[in-house]
Amino acid sequence: MNTKKSMLIVISGFSGVGKGTVVQMVFESLPNIQFSISCTTRAPRSGEENGVDYFFLTDEEFEKKVQAGEFVEYTTTFTNRYGTLKREIDQPLSKGVDVLLEINVVGAKNIKKLYPDCVTIFITPPSIDALKARLIGRGSEDPENIACRLEEIEAESKEIANYDYVVTNNVARTCAEKIVAIIRSEHLRVSRQNLDNLFDEEK
Ligand code: 5GP
Repeated sequence: MNTKKSMLIVISGFSGVGKGTVVQMVFESLPNIQFSISCTTRAPRSGEENGVDYFFLTDEEFEKKVQAGEFVEYTTTFTNRYGTLKREIDQPLSKGVDVLLEINVVGAKNIKKLYPDCVTIFITPPSIDALKARLIGRGSEDPENIACRLEEIEAESKEIANYDYVVTNNVARTCAEKIVAIIRSEHLRVSRQNLDNLFDEEK
């Protein structure tokens, strides 16, 4: 019997910090964890797949889901809308599977209010200048969008103090290992274990 309670993990970080690569590596190391696929109105980037990276929706489709109360949280960043579906969180959690959300600081704040037990992690770059260069070099956003993302860096910096953990992404593999260590340690908290079954399985 599994004595561990499932957990919600929220990861945020500045645009262009390399969250995607790090999160991918975290998934390779942990078996019992599911990615919460968000909805967005932004266009897919090259290589992104509908239903894998995001559910790519039109403004109308997104608004329909807002009205139907399908989102646990949603926000507008840059020029697009992003939202976390209730079912993406509640279904895996109810089956004992951890859920990882990759969302912005506004979403993280809202999720922390609704799920106070969640673990919040902020990924920072080793240098802000390098991040800016990378964001521009990525070439996937137009200049206006890049300018908005750079402004967001200022605003998001102020929110880091509200996270449980902050991890620098210098080398992606090392950053991912640190996040895996956080998740494993959090699972060992007494409050996250079913003490009735403490001696039923190998720890
Ligand atoms: P991107 O367009 O680069 O994929 O994401 C832009 C920002 O939106 C990132 O900070 C990302 O974490 C955030 N984001 C993605 N999905 C969601 C979501 O469902 N809710 C919120 N609040 N933010 C999200």
